[in-house]
Amino acid sequence: MKKRLFTPGPISVPEEVLLEMAKPIIHHRTPEFLAIAEETFKSLKYFFQTENDVLILASSGTGAMEAAVVNTISPGDSAVVISAGKFGERFAELVKTYGGNVILHEPGWGNPADIKLIEKTLNENPSIKAVFATLVETSTGTIYDIESIGNTVARHPNAIFIVDAISGLGAVPCYTDKWGIDILVSGSQKALSLPPGLAFVSVSPKAWKRIEDTKTPRYYYDLRKYRKAATKFDFPYTMAVSLVIGLRKSLQIIQQETLEVLWERHRKRAEAVRNAAAAMGLSIFSRAPSDAVTAILLPEGIDGEKLCSEMRKSFGMSVAGGQDALRGKVVRISHFGWQDEFDTIAVLSALEVMLKRFGYPVNNGIGVKAAISVLFG
Ligand code: PMP
Repeated sequence: MKKRLFTPGPISVPEEVLLEMAKPIIHHRTPEFLAIAEETFKSLKYFFQTENDVLILASSGTGAMEAAVVNTISPGDSAVVISAGKFGERFAELVKTYGGNVILHEPGWGNPADIKLIEKTLNENPSIKAVFATLVETSTGTIYDIESIGNTVARHPNAIFIVDAISGLGAVPCYTDKWGIDILVSGSQKALSLPPGLAFVSVSPKAWKRIEDTKTPRYYYDLRKYRKAATKFDFPYTMAVSLVIGLRKSLQIIQQETLEVLWERHRKRAEAVRNAAAAMGLSIFSRAPSDAVTAILLPEGIDGEKLCSEMRKSFGMSVAGGQDALRGKVVRISHFGWQDEFDTIAVLSALEVMLKRFGYPVNNGIGVKAAISVLFG
């Protein structure tokens, strides 16, 4: 059976990237590898839309989130955390773990942030050291207005702006420098179409100043070590050689295609899925749906966990279920990774068939037809 990944990471990896990664391993301190790293570091600046340093860590995305916290938050520091899903909650847990004082901004799962309220909090508490946000909250499929939050934080010289763009970067527009993002965190297993295992952190000059002053102990995630090594396109520790080689290829493909084209492809696929859901009589969970991942609310009485498991077993299609309060209630489909329009049609068609098997009345092809209209006119 053909296996297809529509989970919000990991995702399918293009063959040309897989073939690059299958080449014999080279040592990470050789001129050959450092030349690959040099090209990769430079292309990452395009992917991040930044002139800031972009550092590469051998870890999953959470490692980069932890790096963002341990390098900028000292015990007792106050930070606003926008938390409206699993990954906002993770930032809050990380800040608390390292002794920070979390001021939660909780608009509710699936809801956009209240920027006026964030501004008010910042005005009333000039000692706030950081604002943490998520570009795309994967657990709900919600996109956050990072540009407006960035403009607000920029008016507060004491605070830095830290964004988890693990799920969104490459799938939706995100301008690190233009939007005033001091630290942007991302990971390899989403829109970069790579296997899991690499994470990235961009750091602005304002954030570097903070990093120097932070009192929290750190070792593997001390970003100063990564910056020092990166001046020679090197890494402080053994790098995940094959993944960096894959990353170079993936970034070459993206640069050739351009980010604008990539964003537009995600936008179309997401719109196709949203329209298909509506045609099937289903609604979207989020009040601000992203073009990176879509969470579709399932009809009452249908067990989402079972549905996802059956999709995988019967059709080889992996989609994600819900987490925590959404467990069993939604199905989440990602729009990133190596997929094309016909993959979108395939997953929608599989969802239709499976919903019918679970007893929900769907006219054959009704969702697929709506999707084709968006994708091909
Ligand atoms: N933040 C977001 C928005 C994510 O989607 C994920 C992964 N699903 C993470 C953080 C955590 O990344 P990882 O699982 O790679 O540690």
